[in-house]
Amino acid sequence: MSYDSNNIFAKILRKEIPCKPVYEDEHVLAFHDIHPQAPTHILVLPKGAYRDMNDFSANASPAEIAALFRAVGKIVKELGVEESGYRVISNCGANGGQEVPHLHLHILGGRRLGRMLQPA
Ligand code: 5GP
Repeated sequence: MSYDSNNIFAKILRKEIPCKPVYEDEHVLAFHDIHPQAPTHILVLPKGAYRDMNDFSANASPAEIAALFRAVGKIVKELGVEESGYRVISNCGANGGQEVPHLHLHILGGRRLGRMLQPA
């Protein structure tokens, strides 16, 4: 499956669509989710064209992989949820419920998040 360069996050990365950024570096852009599921709900994206975790884990460079996880650490500190706790999720494929086909990590926090999975 090839990367769809018309997906909404590709447009955000190209600055064709606005976002509320919280972090950016050479490899990563992070911004607020448009429909937050918790008081803190941030999306963390590699800037490279990776569809999902399968694609990223197989094909991203060590620098890109390190940058994504380092960014999470910086963002949770910056947003004040490092100590109170948070959840990092990446949905992949049909069973994972991925809607936007550009890899992204969700950071959720700011309240008790409850059980990890709700009944289907
Ligand atoms: P997924 O289901 O692919 O893991 O999550 C996609 C996420 O992207 C959803 O939480 C959704 O609210 C968010 N989203 C979809 N379109 C936009 C947009 O245009 N801007 C922002 N900031 N978030 C979006």
